[in-house]
Amino acid sequence: MRLYDTATRRLQELPPPPGPIRMYFCGPTVYQRIHIGNARPFVISMWLKRWLERTGYEVTLAENITDINDKIYAAAPGDSARLAAEATQWYLDDTGGLGLGRPDVEPKATDAIPEIVGMIEQLVSAGHAYPAEGDVYYRVASFPDYGRLSGRHGDEEATRNPSEEAEEAARKEDPRDFALWKGHKEGEDTWWESPWGRGRPGWHIECSAMAEAHLGAVFEIHGGGLDLVFPHHENEVAQSRSLGHGFAQLWMHNGMLRLSGEKMSKSLGNIVSLREALDEWGRETLLVYFLGAHWRKPVDYSDEVLEQAAAQAESFRNVFRSEPGEGGDWGELVAALDDDFNTPEALAAMHGWRDPELLRRGLEVFGLESLAEVAQAPAELEELARARVEARNRKDFETSDRLRDEIGAAGWVVRDVEAEPGFQLVPKQ
Ligand SMILES: [Zn+2]
Repeated sequence: MRLYDTATRRLQELPPPPGPIRMYFCGPTVYQRIHIGNARPFVISMWLKRWLERTGYEVTLAENITDINDKIYAAAPGDSARLAAEATQWYLDDTGGLGLGRPDVEPKATDAIPEIVGMIEQLVSAGHAYPAEGDVYYRVASFPDYGRLSGRHGDEEATRNPSEEAEEAARKEDPRDFALWKGHKEGEDTWWESPWGRGRPGWHIECSAMAEAHLGAVFEIHGGGLDLVFPHHENEVAQSRSLGHGFAQLWMHNGMLRLSGEKMSKSLGNIVSLREALDEWGRETLLVYFLGAHWRKPVDYSDEVLEQAAAQAESFRNVFRSEPGEGGDWGELVAALDDDFNTPEALAAMHGWRDPELLRRGLEVFGLESLAEVAQAPAELEELARARVEARNRKDFETSDRLRDEIGAAGWVVRDVEAEPGFQLVPKQ
């Protein structure tokens, strides 16, 4: 199986099964309901895990929850811990609504403080970081490979960081340096003791420490949104590799989600939460929508695109409503997914499948086996349909037509099929 790697800018072959494949995906910073765009890395990571497991790999997926961050302090001054706990539950509920299961581990930054502090201590004693008035900064000049992942080197970006305070800039040896530990400030309701005094970790060190704590110093795949390549992932690489840790062997960055469509921007504003999207479209339509775009490409989110996804979901349901057919080749799915996890191609292949068992198995990879569960008719209608088959068998077409009309009046269509019991009941559209 091959996946595109941001670091080498080419497709890389995964080790053969059973691997192991250890994956770390950057999860949300919890201070509000997650945006539909933030659901994309979650969906991709869960699908990849499910596919790799079905093809014989041993997979461990860790997806963190950043529950200490400037954004959380800003969203709930003096009350950030309560907001972070509440928003963590929203995240678990909303992603749970996608019906894809959960990552193997979902570490929280607040549970990883000893590992974070330990890693910062190692960086300081190796000369890769320095304390400065209660803060600790990473010394970018000490890591010659800085900028290799993103192709950016941080010179202008670091100085332009709008969230950075003037005092913080004054404490740095170099504008590219970034905070590993931030001294406690008045009004912040959470802090931890450390060798540099009371404070809390920076964002980037949280992910280096949590990834290594759960997956080890070397692991196969690191994922996240394309917007995280710089500075977040560049800084993770610097922190871990300067300690001699191999860290991620392949970097998977998903394309961003673009909001468009007049109706949506009018009714919902420019931010659509996963919760709103689930309420409006349902999980099956949302999953078909994500399937239709290659994970590396940007994807538009609009009523029009979602309506198309809903129609595609319906056409899959129709396969299960019709007389069981034949046709389909599992090899098509393998070829599409093993070549850079090409879900649009997998989706197109499955649209051609008429063998219901094969199709159900394919949909199941993506958590869509529910499309095979077409509505069950009431028992009394099943009785009428059975009586109609018997009438037809004895060529009593008058009775058979009358029973068909009775079933129709109850809102159902009866179809003749060859397989037992000889009929199929489908709700009228
Ligand atoms: Zn991260």
